[in-house]
Amino acid sequence: MKKEMICIICPMGCHLQVDNIDGDCVVQGNACPRGANYAKQEAICPMRTLTSTVRIANAIHPLLPVITSAPVPKQKLFVIMEAVNRVQAEAPIKSGSVVAHNIANCGVDLLASRTMENIHGNKQSAGDPGHPGS
Ligand code: SF4
Repeated sequence: MKKEMICIICPMGCHLQVDNIDGDCVVQGNACPRGANYAKQEAICPMRTLTSTVRIANAIHPLLPVITSAPVPKQKLFVIMEAVNRVQAEAPIKSGSVVAHNIANCGVDLLASRTMENIHGNKQSAGDPGHPGS
């Protein structure tokens, strides 16, 4: 069955058609090879980078923005979100720090996508070099 989609890899937004011919994905409408790769991935196993928030203790805000370290299978997003909803981070935390390893056993980590200081205005966690307590 022919699938139609718009390539989101670059602003050109090519209109792609993907067809399964004899077990092989045939892509049309792509202006470059990246579009063909995107369409094949979308047809076989669509992947998405998940962004969300988790609760954070002792921070200046109640929620910490987070992002997966790599795209995850679209069909696993709900399972991963259930795991994300159970995570609680601790301030202070730096952008890029791992908040949860191997979230929902999907092979990627959940990362803080912003630095957040604690309620005392401290941006360095206990493990950071230069921390007064380390
Ligand atoms: S097929 Fe290539 S040129 Fe077209 S939108 Fe995708 S990445 Fe851009």
